[in-house]
Amino acid sequence: MKRRIIMLGAPGSGKGTWSKIISDARKLTHIATGDLFRRELAAETPLGLEVKSYMERGALVPDELTIRLVEKALTGENAALGFVLDGFPRTIPQAEALEAILAKHGWKIDAVVDLAIEEDVLIGRTLARLVCSGCGQPYNAVSMQPAVEGVCDRCGGEVVRRGDDTEETIKKRMETYHANTAPLIDYYRERDLLVTFSNEGPPNEETRDLLFAIIDGDKR
Ligand code: ADP
Ligand code: ZN
Repeated sequence: MKRRIIMLGAPGSGKGTWSKIISDARKLTHIATGDLFRRELAAETPLGLEVKSYMERGALVPDELTIRLVEKALTGENAALGFVLDGFPRTIPQAEALEAILAKHGWKIDAVVDLAIEEDVLIGRTLARLVCSGCGQPYNAVSMQPAVEGVCDRCGGEVVRRGDDTEETIKKRMETYHANTAPLIDYYRERDLLVTFSNEGPPNEETRDLLFAIIDGDKR
């Protein structure tokens, strides 16, 4: 089984949704940099205040800050049992820093899952996206509502739209994705770690089985 996994993909590709499903099912630590930043923002910590302007305009938080945050998350006891990185790395320097951090622990990435999806689907999905303000569980106003509108199925928290899910920031985040993150596809392909996973529809049994075959199998 693969225990150290990176989920790659554009905003709205389903990274967060699938990362949660995989980490819950296989007891891996879910490390989502966007969620970690949003938590700091909500608590108005110094880090939160520092990252606020970047997040609000859909720009990347500087590598140095992001890397420090991930390094801390990876030193936790639970991370030693395996983890799913969701939204990190997003730049080549972040990928290189990750390699160095993992090497200190004697670890290596087992698989990089690239969630491939048509660009026009991405925008619509992102605009319909909802998230629990308590536990971060993702929802979707069109395809994946909670049982009771506005109330999280998992924790009873309030289900809201993200502040940065506006048409303008989404466009900016797509540009940022193409310029900075898409090059990681080749980076990991060259390292023979890349698996491409087509994620067009909402999560269902069939896509779930396909993804778990990748995670649980030896095959890439
Ligand atoms: P999405 O993938 O849907 O755009 P995320 O929740 O992963 O959303 O990220 C939200 C925001 O948090 C990003 O637009 C960026 O400002 C910041 N962020 C998250 N991860 C990183 C990262 N690895 N490097 C730099 N900034 C990041
Ligand atoms: Zn919740």
